[in-house]
Amino acid sequence: MKSDPKTEYKLLKARDYLESIAEMKRRTTLFLVCAFEIALILFVVAWTARANNESQKHAIISPPSCINNLGETVKFKNLNIKSANSASGMAKRDEAGEPIVYRFAYQNSPHALQRFIDFHECAHHQTGDVDLPHPPRNSPDHMMNESIADCIATLRMRDELDKGSEILLQSVINLMDDMRKVGFPDSTLNSRKSNILNCLEKQVTAQTFLDGILRYRGLK
Ligand SMILES: [Zn+2]
Repeated sequence: MKSDPKTEYKLLKARDYLESIAEMKRRTTLFLVCAFEIALILFVVAWTARANNESQKHAIISPPSCINNLGETVKFKNLNIKSANSASGMAKRDEAGEPIVYRFAYQNSPHALQRFIDFHECAHHQTGDVDLPHPPRNSPDHMMNESIADCIATLRMRDELDKGSEILLQSVINLMDDMRKVGFPDSTLNSRKSNILNCLEKQVTAQTFLDGILRYRGLK
């Protein structure tokens, strides 16, 4: 059948028209899909931002067992410091003379760091630091006490916790971040980190290492 050009033209136009409608539908669909995706992205961003905000609030872990060099059980006490950005700790005797670790703002730091601080502060009780005269801040003796406490914390985490080495390495990352924020120089960060990593490789238990320290100090 021979079609006349007018009819052909009309058919072509009709096809164009149908195609343009189809194209419009595609575009509308695409737009709707895009709009949906954008909404989804915005939702995820908002949700993540909220999660990040909330991630500053961490559940507080239960403390490790801690016995000082005199065989006394060390207590742990949580203290919420509103102005503190991250967790920290302090080992001392309370007003009643009981050995205690104060845990400051633990809810502001991840579990790995909470663990490390617990073990580190406990180590100050285990080594007898708490009952010995406190060496001047940043003196070689003070730095030595800190290195020893870090080392005992490292060995205990490695040996007493499930996946302890992983948790320890995570805590070191958190610790370095916090120290950097406070303004400690890189040299301090690096020496603390390398001491911890060296201790991690020690072929001794925390108890053996601790016994050596106590004997050296004449406490055992
Ligand atoms: Zn310390």
